[in-house]
Amino acid sequence: MTTAIRQMLTCHWTARRIQRYLDADPAAPLTPGEVTRLEQHVATCERCTEVMREHRVLHRALSLWSGQRPVDPDQVDRMRAVLDDLTEGPQ
Ligand SMILES: [Zn+2]
Repeated sequence: MTTAIRQMLTCHWTARRIQRYLDADPAAPLTPGEVTRLEQHVATCERCTEVMREHRVLHRALSLWSGQRPVDPDQVDRMRAVLDDLTEGPQ
């Protein structure tokens, strides 16, 4: 029972730090001790491995979105017009 409670507390502790661990946010870095503790726990805990996996997927999706400017439809039309000119040549 005590072990289960300790495990649960560690899961909670880990879950609260996974985001910061993945972000490697310089404003709120984990200490090397925290990183070690987190990695050791995730390595032995199925639940936290799953949480980590989901965070990674989300993290990748977010960094893709933020790294990419939304596509401007006007720009796409201009590009298409340029391509049409190039491929069809002057009439
Ligand atoms: Zn856990």
